[in-house]
Amino acid sequence: MRIPCIVAIDGPAASGKSTLAEKLADFLGYLYFDTGVMYRAVTLAALRELDTLDEAMVTGLAERIDIDVRPPSVQDGRKYDVLMNGEDVTWQIRCPEVDANVSQVSAYPGVRRAMTAQQRRIGQRGRVVMVGRDIGTVVLPEADLKIYLDASVEERARRRYLEVQQRGENISYQSILSSMKKRDQIDSTREVAPLRPADDAVILNSDGVTAEEVLEQVKALLADC
Ligand code: C5P
Repeated sequence: MRIPCIVAIDGPAASGKSTLAEKLADFLGYLYFDTGVMYRAVTLAALRELDTLDEAMVTGLAERIDIDVRPPSVQDGRKYDVLMNGEDVTWQIRCPEVDANVSQVSAYPGVRRAMTAQQRRIGQRGRVVMVGRDIGTVVLPEADLKIYLDASVEERARRRYLEVQQRGENISYQSILSSMKKRDQIDSTREVAPLRPADDAVILNSDGVTAEEVLEQVKALLADC
């Protein structure tokens, strides 16, 4: 068995990518890096600072913004701190306004260029499990193991609904479902780096499968690397 040095995990929202990546990174002793937080932080900054999500202005902002991911400083259920220009925005980047606008922002080629460059720098150091939409296809096509984790949109919306309820937020299942469908549609049809499995990715489905079972499936794949 040759332990992979770079693992790429892609798939749609709430397919279980982050849980899988976190557990796998723990198992391998690797860095877990969730690239979605970067697009979310740019979106939050744009919503706060700009009147409209004008492409040139959002791109300029993405080029200037300082995003950092650090070990958790607070025990409130977070897995890491997300800092945007030094400010802790770990939970703000999960708000419905960011959910509703992040796909538009992340479809801008200039925004992707700025984020991809940073992600590649981190990924190429190796010993990393990187999660997103385009890791296996664009960010780290050289990854030793590529997983595409899918699940039905109803199952994914149900998971997100449970998470939101646990945080005490009051958002309906229906609005989560429709926002997720819209996000899937934009993410998979954009011109630059659309959501799709890499040709050499292993496609898994997490419908009706526990997180532990998905992890076991991936551990079995490590043996074939
Ligand atoms: O993974 P998460 O749901 O937090 O990602 C939020 C959004 O960021 C996605 O819907 C997608 O629009 C964008 N994204 C992306 N490429 C990535 C990671 C996330 O376009 N590598």
